[in-house]
Amino acid sequence: IRLHMEGTLTARDKVGVQDFVLLDAYTSESAFVDNLRKRFSENLIYTYIGTLLVSVNPYQELGIYTMSQMELYQGVNFFELPPHVYAIADNAYRMMCSELNNHFILISGESGAGKTEASKKILQYFAVTCPMTQSLQIARDRLLLSNPVLEAFGNAKTLRNDNSSRFGKYMDIQFDFQGIPVGGHIISYLIEKSRVVYQNHGERNFHIFYQLLAGGEEERLAYLGLERDPQLYKYLSQGHCAKESSINDKNDWKTVSNAFSVIDFTEGDLENLFGIIASVLHLGNVGFEGDDQGCATIPDTHEIKWIAKLLGVHSSILLEALTHRKIEAKTEEVICPLTLELSVYARDAMAKAVYGRTFTWLVNKINSSLVNKGINTIDFTKKTVIGLLDIYGFEVFDKNGFEQFCINYCNEKLQQLLIERTLKAEQTEYEMEGIEWEPIQYFNNKIICDLVEERHKGIISILDEECIRPGPATDLSFLEKLEEKVGKHAHFETRKLAGPKGRKRIGWMEFRLLHYAGEVTYCTKGFLEKNNDLLYRHLKEVLCKSTNSILRECFLVAELENRRRPPTVGTQFKNSLSSLLEILISKEPSYIRCIKPNERKEPSKFDDFLVRHQIKYLGLMEHLRVRRAGFAYRRKYEHFLQRYKSLCPDTWPHWCGPPAEGVERLIKYIGYKPEEYKLGNSRTKIFIRFPRTLFATEDAFEF
Ligand code: ATP
Ligand code: MG
Repeated sequence: IRLHMEGTLTARDKVGVQDFVLLDAYTSESAFVDNLRKRFSENLIYTYIGTLLVSVNPYQELGIYTMSQMELYQGVNFFELPPHVYAIADNAYRMMCSELNNHFILISGESGAGKTEASKKILQYFAVTCPMTQSLQIARDRLLLSNPVLEAFGNAKTLRNDNSSRFGKYMDIQFDFQGIPVGGHIISYLIEKSRVVYQNHGERNFHIFYQLLAGGEEERLAYLGLERDPQLYKYLSQGHCAKESSINDKNDWKTVSNAFSVIDFTEGDLENLFGIIASVLHLGNVGFEGDDQGCATIPDTHEIKWIAKLLGVHSSILLEALTHRKIEAKTEEVICPLTLELSVYARDAMAKAVYGRTFTWLVNKINSSLVNKGINTIDFTKKTVIGLLDIYGFEVFDKNGFEQFCINYCNEKLQQLLIERTLKAEQTEYEMEGIEWEPIQYFNNKIICDLVEERHKGIISILDEECIRPGPATDLSFLEKLEEKVGKHAHFETRKLAGPKGRKRIGWMEFRLLHYAGEVTYCTKGFLEKNNDLLYRHLKEVLCKSTNSILRECFLVAELENRRRPPTVGTQFKNSLSSLLEILISKEPSYIRCIKPNERKEPSKFDDFLVRHQIKYLGLMEHLRVRRAGFAYRRKYEHFLQRYKSLCPDTWPHWCGPPAEGVERLIKYIGYKPEEYKLGNSRTKIFIRFPRTLFATEDAFEF
């Protein structure tokens, strides 16, 4: 056996190792990339780092998501089959069922890396493999069909991805004590509202607009006052790619319409919902002109009339609200005209607010249809959940703004969770099993999280202060405040307070954060406006009086009566992240890290440089180091024995004694040296120090 172990390296050379922990040169980034490339070229897109799954987007259908594949992975021990997203799903599910605890699967990676596809595969896996009763099929179908609806309203074609999710999504799948999926709950994060009014060249608005125009019934469009051609709408044509060959809007409309009917939407709901979608399109076409005094007027009121009809507001009041502003003087309200520029701002702010809040309404509505209404008489109190988190990965563009700042802050928080959970879990296990180990040095990014979020001192607080400060606050004065208050922080730099020479220059309006995943330079332009997200009171009043019942729910009169400022976008995001972390911290984690192999959405193209960057951003080398620090591998005695029992005459074909003893016999027979392994003293697991050891055993076993 020993002889054989030394000799058989060929298969591994060709297809790489299926677990990075088995990589000899585990500290080498090049070896890491090599391994991924080898596997990718064999269409093996999945690789583990211990129990973390690394996935490389194949950009082609590989036939690995069939029913028979699902069956294959069902109820099988994690390491016994090649890495797969189904193995992650199945492992979380089985642990949840046997230990009755809650789990989450965090899927991260940059845009186009395959996060949403992975989350859909997991959902499908549960839908197909979990036990099901007739009465609960509807719950399952609703869970599945919530996806196309949310994607229609929350996804868009971008330069990076034809179906890019423009919001973060956390979805709980709830299971009863028998492991039957009984309901769900979705939380959405920070939808990119600015896309409603503006798209870069080569990008589109949210899919739903195009779907409605391409697939909507004639009568519906007539009722909404819409034409089929998207080029006629300003909000749809700025990216110059309204008609995109890779997207079939007409078919997608059918899928979404069908989904709506399953998720409990009435015809009334849909009428109101599409009334709003159509109003946004009409709003984009409202044109302004300046009069002699530079005040805005609306020469053609055709669109205003449509909006007034669809939203149930008075057209003259709407017209006034789009061109005037109410200012509260001491005892009375004064109406003053807006400039052309401010009217355009007011119009776009209205479109963004209406769309953003409607999206939230949609999520809430879907949630109420996913609530397990106790259709069954069984006691549902012992519910457990598996949460799926499909959230934006770390972003570094040529120009980074407020959105990237929020997204990267989110990634800092999630990285912190991963580090703490991974290290903590490792340490607890070693302690429990009485195993000595060398704690490894790792970078704790709490210092960066604090820099961003600390009360009164962090960047978000400083931004908020600038937003509410009376007097002329600007993006520049915000930058100056940052320099004054956090200028000395080790992870912060500006042009004035730049780090060592020879690094990329920082511009006038910019600051740089040294994130765990690398440096990002942010331009402060637009920070104040985006953080404030101001909608003039005048327009809010109009929307509160709308007879469209969805808008009535979205714009409450109470908001007008409450004189306190609503929390800023930054603060809201910070709060929602902190609740997300609370949700996650109490659950058992699984991680999927998605990697994009090339920028051109092409199959079989593996760009080393691009992949290497992502490995860095995703903290994969660090994760591998942590995983390898103590013992590369750990396996329950039963599982180890089950897999390798054929290697030893004492344990083959059956070992009837205690599994720990069987393992001891087995490893003695195949010649493990004392420094190569440890047996945990709580008598559950064998720990193997070097990957080479397990490797050899694997090779012998294959023989
Ligand atoms: P974003 O952050 O922009 O939402 P994402 O990580 O969610 O990006 P996806 O939408 O999941 O990316 O994937 C982008 C595209 O890549 C998909 O539309 C699909 O064409 C392809 N793709 C992703 N994963 C797979 C897969 N496992 N098999 C085949 N194709 C895939
Ligand atoms: Mg996505």
